Amino acid sequence: MADVIIIGRGPAGLSAAIYTARAGLETLDAGPMGGALMKTERIENYFGFPEPVSGKKLLENGAAQAARLGVKFADEEAVGISYGSGFSVSMASGKTYEAPFLILATGTSRKAPQIVGLKEFEGRGVSYCAICDAFFYRKKEVAVLGSGDYALHEAQALLQTAAKVTVLTNGENPTASFPPQINVVTKKIGSLYGDGTLKGIKFQDGSELPAAGAFVAVGVAGSTDLARKVGVETKGNVIVTDQNMRTNVPGLYAAGDCTGGLLQVSKAVCDGAVAGVSVSREFHRKG
Ligand SMILES: Cc1cc2nc3c(=O)[nH]c(=O)nc-3n(C[C@H](O)[C@H](O)[C@H](O)COP(=O)(O)OP(=O)(O)OC[C@H]3O[C@@H](n4cnc5c(N)ncnc54)[C@H](O)[C@@H]3O)c2cc1C
Repeated sequence: MADVIIIGRGPAGLSAAIYTARAGLETLDAGPMGGALMKTERIENYFGFPEPVSGKKLLENGAAQAARLGVKFADEEAVGISYGSGFSVSMASGKTYEAPFLILATGTSRKAPQIVGLKEFEGRGVSYCAICDAFFYRKKEVAVLGSGDYALHEAQALLQTAAKVTVLTNGENPTASFPPQINVVTKKIGSLYGDGTLKGIKFQDGSELPAAGAFVAVGVAGSTDLARKVGVETKGNVIVTDQNMRTNVPGLYAAGDCTGGLLQVSKAVCDGAVAGVSVSREFHRKG
């Protein structure tokens, strides 16, 4: 058990980890190295570098700095979180990690796929959280939109209550190993249909799949996907925090691009520092 788990290994997550580790907290930073910065060849507006630096180099330096200070890393994607006496984070490998404090720093949430009807049926068949909404679809046929570990995690949560679970990869090759109880359909999706509430999915080849629910789990779990699972207040794609980077869920903080505002390294590093200091103070106060 760690004192704090940070999900995300970008500038916000690494900065938070540096602060919590230096304050003496057992810190686990969970997530693959990646995110927005990996795609950036030249950064020349971040303080302290007379010459442009690549995003990769900046991340490698930050990770080495955090490791030197004692931060532990779990180099894989988080697919779910739950909240009981503390936080439990489920990873793509099936491992879980627990801690009394959690910081979400997974960057900007990816956009939902552009599928006709998806927006229209949000809250009336379309859901972004299996754990939250599976109950409403007990003994009904449901679909999960996605093809990787996050889709597998959501489908497994639905298997416990739904009559039938079909994963729709929308033309992608599945990247997770789906068990035989989960049907996998790789056809391209055309649209979602219904009459006020969702009734099913039409494929581009004209065939249809009846479904009362469609759960969106495309790509990796984004910050707001994870946040919604434990009732964190979100506004669009952004997690709502106070000036200490606290969310409305006690013990849960967020930092960086996932909290909106200026989408820049300097703001992500600042948010991470504020979240790290806030968590450390709260930890020692309770302690
Ligand atoms: C093309 C491009 C150019 C840019 N140029 C600049 C620039 O010149 N200067 C500047 O200041 N900013 C620039 N930015 C913005 C900057 O990259 C971001 O503001 C900054 O990286 C945000 O940091 P973050 O830690 O919040 O998120 P990110 O850097 O996106 O890091 C998020 C981390 O979370 C991880 N993650 C995501 N989902 C999960 C999950 N489910 N489980 C575990 N881990 C997960 C990712 O792998 C990643 O490690 C640029 C962005 C882009 C896309």
